Amino acid sequence: MTRQPIPVVPAAHYMCGGVSTDLWGRTEIEGLFASGEVAHTGLHGANRLASNSLLEALVFSDRVHQHASRRLNVAAGYPDVPDWREDDVFNTEEWVLLAHDRVEVQRLMWDYVGIVRSDFRLKRAARRIGVIAREVEEFYKRTRVTEGLLELRNITTVAALAVRCALKRRESRGLHYNVDCPEDGSAVPEDTVLSVRETWQSSEVDWQAAMNI
Ligand SMILES: Cc1cc2nc3c(=O)[nH]c(=O)nc-3n(C[C@H](O)[C@H](O)[C@H](O)COP(=O)(O)OP(=O)(O)OC[C@H]3O[C@@H](n4cnc5c(N)ncnc54)[C@H](O)[C@@H]3O)c2cc1C
Repeated sequence: MTRQPIPVVPAAHYMCGGVSTDLWGRTEIEGLFASGEVAHTGLHGANRLASNSLLEALVFSDRVHQHASRRLNVAAGYPDVPDWREDDVFNTEEWVLLAHDRVEVQRLMWDYVGIVRSDFRLKRAARRIGVIAREVEEFYKRTRVTEGLLELRNITTVAALAVRCALKRRESRGLHYNVDCPEDGSAVPEDTVLSVRETWQSSEVDWQAAMNI
């Protein structure tokens, strides 16, 4: 800093939002609980308050534990799962494509889904991330599962959901700002929530057609 200015870039060190839960950490899926950074308990409203996150993680993890431990004895057990098959050829060349996909998702999110958004950029991101999501899903189904592949699949899923949520919200509030709808919409703020049906049962193609992307 004695020779040149320190580079300044926007940054967000946390996620606001996440898996919706009730006050016991229960999600829409029976038996699946969420607490801490991954959860959206509703405590933070449209913006996240500093220094509340650790407290929230502690309180909700304790509540999840209290609730889950009460229902351990009534759990239905595990479903039958077929034997693991690893007879597909592991093609190392395709890993180059996956490494490329990962960088591309990061780049798309940085460039098009950053602090100031627009419908045009969000739709562009949705189309491109949709293509990558389909490629990753195909690869996932026909190759050996590895940490890198799971991470890429998770990153792509979260990216696609963040874009869907951003496009669904027709106002700017808290952390979310879209130049195409800069005003606060309703007097009573509402969360943008995607149901399990919207996230798992509709493919990127169906969803994009419904949103006219
Ligand atoms: C820079 C920064 C500053 C912050 N400052 C504050 C503050 O001042 N006050 C405040 O209240 N909060 C603050 N927070 C937020 C707070 O730290 C987080 O909300 C909290 O740590 C989340 O806890 P967690 O247990 O949910 O997640 P994490 O602490 O992220 O723990 C998740 C754990 O899971 C592990 N993991 C991930 N994937 C896998 C896997 N597949 N298998 C096994 N393990 C896995 C990870 O390695 C990690 O150890 C800050 C966060 C950051 C990044």
